[in-house]
Amino acid sequence: MKKTAAPDFHALAEHQLRESPLRATDARIKVLASLLGAHHAQSHQDIQDTLTDMDRVTLYRALDCLTDAGLAHKIAGDDRVFRYNAGIEQHEAGDHAQQHQHGHFKCTRCARVFCIENVDEKLFAGNDGANTKSLRQQLQKVLQDALGKGFQSHDIELTIKGWCADCATKAGALKTGARKSA
Ligand SMILES: [Zn+2]
Ligand SMILES: [Zn+2]
Repeated sequence: MKKTAAPDFHALAEHQLRESPLRATDARIKVLASLLGAHHAQSHQDIQDTLTDMDRVTLYRALDCLTDAGLAHKIAGDDRVFRYNAGIEQHEAGDHAQQHQHGHFKCTRCARVFCIENVDEKLFAGNDGANTKSLRQQLQKVLQDALGKGFQSHDIELTIKGWCADCATKAGALKTGARKSA
């Protein structure tokens, strides 16, 4: 049995759509609810597998609408597959662009993509009162050292690559197994 989106995600999706300029159609609510309920970013196929009775075109359109309206964002995977997650990726360009910036973790083994929320607060923003430079300032210096004083960074996209917990566990198990048999 496939798990359907939990009712509270459905309500949340409906609420977000009603607050947005989009019309809250049944398809958009279902697609957004499945994104909201997902632990990691979803490919078309993942969503199709969850919403089996939705036709492909409707699904594509709903995803496009949600992305355009900033209720979802898409992330290009290293396997050339786009994956979607709820929430806005980055703010419109500008001085206050950093507020909603978030990073991604891409697993190099299973290609799943996870959103890392509030990267900005945790990493990029300077510590108040501390003498340490924020990562943002350090990267600005790296940029200018490398390319010249005239260069200014506005946005930094953070992608961390590695193994997700599941894959790391599997790899660890393999290694132990190999060592035993060697
Ligand atoms: Zn993985
Ligand atoms: Zn994301």
